[in-house]
Amino acid sequence: MTNKFVRPDIAEMEAYVPIVPFEVLSARLGRAPEAIVKLDANENPYGPSPKALEALRNGRFFHIYPDPESNQLREALSQYVHMPKERLLTGMGADELIDLVLRVVLSPGDVVIDCPPSFGMYPFSTAVNSGQYVPVRRKDDFSLDVEGIETAVANHPTAKILFLCSPNNPDGSTIPNADLRRLLQLPVLVVLDEAYADFDLGINHLGINAQAKEHMAWTLEYDNLAVLRTFSKLAGLAGLRVGYGAFPEWLLPHLWKIKQPYNINVAASLAALASLEDQAWLQEKVQLLVAERERLFAELGTISYLNPFPSRSNFILCRVVGRDAQMLKQKLEQAGILVRYFNKPGLDNCIRISVGRPEETSKLVLALKFLET
Ligand SMILES: *Cc1c(COP(=O)(O)O)cnc(C)c1O
Repeated sequence: MTNKFVRPDIAEMEAYVPIVPFEVLSARLGRAPEAIVKLDANENPYGPSPKALEALRNGRFFHIYPDPESNQLREALSQYVHMPKERLLTGMGADELIDLVLRVVLSPGDVVIDCPPSFGMYPFSTAVNSGQYVPVRRKDDFSLDVEGIETAVANHPTAKILFLCSPNNPDGSTIPNADLRRLLQLPVLVVLDEAYADFDLGINHLGINAQAKEHMAWTLEYDNLAVLRTFSKLAGLAGLRVGYGAFPEWLLPHLWKIKQPYNINVAASLAALASLEDQAWLQEKVQLLVAERERLFAELGTISYLNPFPSRSNFILCRVVGRDAQMLKQKLEQAGILVRYFNKPGLDNCIRISVGRPEETSKLVLALKFLET
């Protein structure tokens, strides 16, 4: 058979480059998985909450199809984020919700505005859904080009969706509320990705201070705002694929119509519910990771060939100065330390380091200092 049955835009589309599976990497490096310092995918180094693991061990109904409406989980989420349950939808990771929104909204050729450098799933899912991808590059400090976005919307009458990520992956900067409110005036659906919102905390003389996370509630105020969250990062459930979001009322019936009925599997649901019931554990890990982020930032600042960017997330982006970032990534890999390497517009010669446990930071810093000589 030939390609004649393949959608032309899919035939031409570049494949998404998936990560190398952990087992494969472990074999390739000749190191046991637990001997690898994995700082490349912003996962929680502490793993899932013990309560989530216990819930999985005790699960009894894995042979029964899951609740298509994920009622228990949405009920628990409603209490957790103080939002009406009816406004919440769960997905197989926030990734699925990104795809679902695009599927509902886009006709072929409709414009999606993105602000790169940012999360790779926005261009990917736009392409899969036959959207036209219009990037409005962030400024050198990774802040949004708000006027550029307004111009792009004005210039593209079929602009339907604007993706905003805060804290932004891969640099960890956040979007000021004033910019958000201004962008919400635009005639597009704003999808605000808050996968890392839990880490958007600062440190003051009293220790770590909680920042009000109000953006989900804004979906009650703005009918063109959707806010996405996930269990993949802080809750440590990346491998089980659970995300959720708050959506405008008009959009929800259509999302419900087209979603796969059994998208949240029984195991994912059990683990997510148990995580929500283990707030003490989650809060402790957030505090550890935010404190560790600040220590890592200070340490990276002492490495002569690295320029770290301040981050409100669980990773730190560094520009590598005077040497090749890809080579650095490889040298670290040989030492059993994994980091993410980028080389694209706005991210030339950069690495992104996830925040790990204190002993992982120490190993990393030792290796970076060793490479200095
Ligand atoms: C990790 C991540 C997600 C969430 O992915 P899941 O599909 O929930 O695992 C969403 N947005 C950004 C920016 C991310 O980095």
